[in-house]
Parts: sequence; structure tokens; C-alpha cells
Amino acid sequence: MRGYETLGEGMARIVMKFGGTSVADVERLRNVADRVAKSAREGNEIAVVLSAMAGTTNELISLIQGMSTMHDAREYDAVVSAGEQITIGLLAMALQERGISARSWQGWQLPIRTDDVHSRARIEDIDGAEIVRRMSLGAGNGAGGGEVAVVAGFQGLSPNNRITTLGRGGSDTTAVALAAALGADRCDIHTDVDGVYTADPRIVMAARKLDKITYEEMLEMASQGAKVLQTRSVELAMNHRVRVQVLSSFNDTPGTLVVDEDEIVEQAVVSGITYASDEAKVTLLQVSDRPGVAAAIFGPLAEASINVDMIVQSASPDGTNTDMTFTVARGDLPRVEAVLAEHRGAIGYREIIADGEVVKVSVIGVGMRSHAGVAQRMFAALSEKGINIHAISTSEIKISVLIGAEYTELAVRSLHSAYGLDAV
Ligand code: ADP
Ligand code: ASP
Ligand code: MG
Repeated sequence: MRGYETLGEGMARIVMKFGGTSVADVERLRNVADRVAKSAREGNEIAVVLSAMAGTTNELISLIQGMSTMHDAREYDAVVSAGEQITIGLLAMALQERGISARSWQGWQLPIRTDDVHSRARIEDIDGAEIVRRMSLGAGNGAGGGEVAVVAGFQGLSPNNRITTLGRGGSDTTAVALAAALGADRCDIHTDVDGVYTADPRIVMAARKLDKITYEEMLEMASQGAKVLQTRSVELAMNHRVRVQVLSSFNDTPGTLVVDEDEIVEQAVVSGITYASDEAKVTLLQVSDRPGVAAAIFGPLAEASINVDMIVQSASPDGTNTDMTFTVARGDLPRVEAVLAEHRGAIGYREIIADGEVVKVSVIGVGMRSHAGVAQRMFAALSEKGINIHAISTSEIKISVLIGAEYTELAVRSLHSAYGLDAV
């Protein structure tokens, strides 16, 4: 990251991202403009990244579904990227009204180059030169700083010059990638909660805000369902050492800093509990218990680009047949069933049972590396509540269990208490 030396003392180059609820209407956009103007007047160089107004992206997706179920992915992106175009133009106007020079930028105008995987593209490169040039013109707004760039989140440009989008929640990734490209001192992600909590504050009243969280834990929390940051944004922050802060759009309370492990003095064993509700469980009954059967099942799924997460193979009492259970993203279920039906001959199973009413609950913490008994506490807490576990998976800093969706809140709250995370 870039130092402060080229700006005046205490001044910084900052990327400020505001999510959907923070720009939900004109009133909230005015609030964002006030915050950005204040920071610009303090002499900071600022690039803003915005989401679409809350609900807009969902509305655009339902328009597409109403129009065509088998749509062209390039046109899907042409439609869903539209929401961000509105908010950036409105904010640039509001900033100009406040005497701050500002300009809106869509992804293609910088450009933000991505690969061509439409609807979940990855950013490959951002040309930040023009933004930097305009930022450093200085004194343009009577505030010391130059022009404020207002950049559309979530969208980019494919190698074929088509608009791409980065997957739901992708504005976080735009913000972090832009911060890396501009050599920003900080990337502040403003949202509708005060920071990263020990669990989703919407379902756990006793959740506590974390002052700091490690990149690794944040990465696991995001990928296991805490949607406060898009997973890819955390990966990028970790790789490019971007200083990310998650904080409120509506108050000035300090947020949560995402940091290296050595910046945390007292590390808890477990830092957070997450749940992911977009899971589905598939069981193949009476698969023959022979070498090569796992390859026969998971090979064709991999070829169809279907991600398989947890896998459980039950013991076969007579050595001939076994049941194979695994989880996939719920949206992939129809494709999974089609692929397995197509390969039924090669696999050899009696029946497929698909269950979309499951949820994956995870406990996450770097402290697990050095503490025993963390998993046992999880299993005991769930069993005390009579919650049955369908599958388990672990990594160095995470334990996940698959349970019935109806137990989600009970499980997350019980685990939150069991690991001593409840606010006192
Ligand atoms: P934005 O529109 O600002 O991008 P999101 O809705 O994508 O906001 O993310 C913020 C939401 O993430 C919060 O409202 C909260 O319900 C949810 N969330 C889930 N887990 C957590 C967590 N551990 N800490 C904070 N927020 C969380
Ligand atoms: N507007 C997009 C979405 O709703 C991107 C974002 O908000 O981060 O997913
Ligand atoms: Mg988001």
C-alpha cells in the first residue's frame, strides 16, 4: 500500500464503498454525499464505489426470469449491471451540488477488465491512471483534493468488450480491487451494520462486533455464508494486502479492521459462527462398494462445473453396497440430478434422494490450530438441543456441520453461547 507522504499530513487516498441499503433512496444518497464531501474537504483523495439501490438488482433479475428462462448470459449481465449506473450518476450530482468536483465511471469507461465468465466474472486488471490523474489535480473543489471518482460496483468489461458482472455482492470486490489498483491507503466498506460481528446480528441478538478479524478468518466467514463481504473481495485484500475496514454508513462508530494475525493481541479460539442456506444434500442409495465408484460419481459432476462440498460415504455392512451423500449449491440441484441420471449405468445406484431443506453451520477461528476439543464442544451443544448432524467437514480453522434448515437459528444461537461469544 501507498504511504501518506505524497499527501499532506493525516490525508489519505481512500476507497469508500456503500452497499445497497446505504444508497436505497435519494435521502440515503444525500447522506452518502455528505460523508464523502466531509472526507474530501479534509483533503483526502477519494474514489467511491456504489451498489445499486437495495432491491434493484433483484428486480432486474426477476424481469429477466419473466422474459426468458434460458437466457443468454451476456444479456443477463447487460440487464443486471444497470442498477449501479443509476446510483453513481445520482451521487456525482449530489457531490457537485455540495461544491465537490466529481465524475461517475461505469466499468467499461475505466476500464475494469474481467474474464468472460458472465454473471460471475473475475477482475483481471483495472486501469486507474485517469482516476489518479484527476484526483491529484488538487484544489479542484476548494478542498485540497482533486476530483472524486464515483465508480459503479459489480460490473466490468470482458475481453470481447461485453459488460460482465461479478456475482452477487460483487461491489465489495470492485472496491478492494480498485483500492489495490489505486494504491489506496484504505478501503472502507460502508454497510447497514457497524462491522463484522461474531454471528449475523440479524439472527443472534447477543452477537458482538469484532474490532479486528484476520484475513483468513474473514475469508472463511465469507465463504461459509456471512455475506457482509463477498468472498472474492477478501481473497483480493489478502493477496494485495489492502487494509479493509467494515463500518456503518449511518454512524461514526469505528468498524472492524481486517488484519494480519500478528496484529491481534488476544486471539479467541472461535471468532465467529456462520450459516449458509443455499445448500442441498444429495444421497445416492445402494451404490456398489468398489474401487472407482467415487470417480464415477464426482467425475461427471466436475466436468459439468458443479462444485461438491461435503462428502460422506456410509460403511457398507455386507461389503457390497454403500450410500453416498454429498452437498452442492441448491441452485445446481436440477443439473446434478440430470448428470447423475445420465451416468446411472456407469455408477449403478438404486435411487437419488435430493433434500433442499438443509443448512450448513460453521464455527471459525484461527485459535483452533492450537486448541483441542473445539469440535467436541460443537457436537455436544447441538446434541443438547436435539439437532441431528447429516454431514461434517473440517479445515484447519473451521468446522462445518450440515443440519435441517428448521434448526438454523437455534443452532447458531446455541453455538454462539457454547463458545462464550455472547455479549454480556
Ligand atoms: P451491503 O448491501 O451493504 O453490501 P449486505 O447485505 O451485502 O450489505 O451485507 C450486510 C449484511 O450482512 C448485514 O445486514 C448482516 O445481516 C449480514 N451479515 C451476515 N453475517 C454477518 C456478520 N458476521 N457480521 C456482520 N453482518 C453479517
Ligand atoms: N448490486 C449487486 C447485488 O445486489 C452488487 C452488490 O450490491 O454488491 O448483488
Ligand atoms: Mg453486500
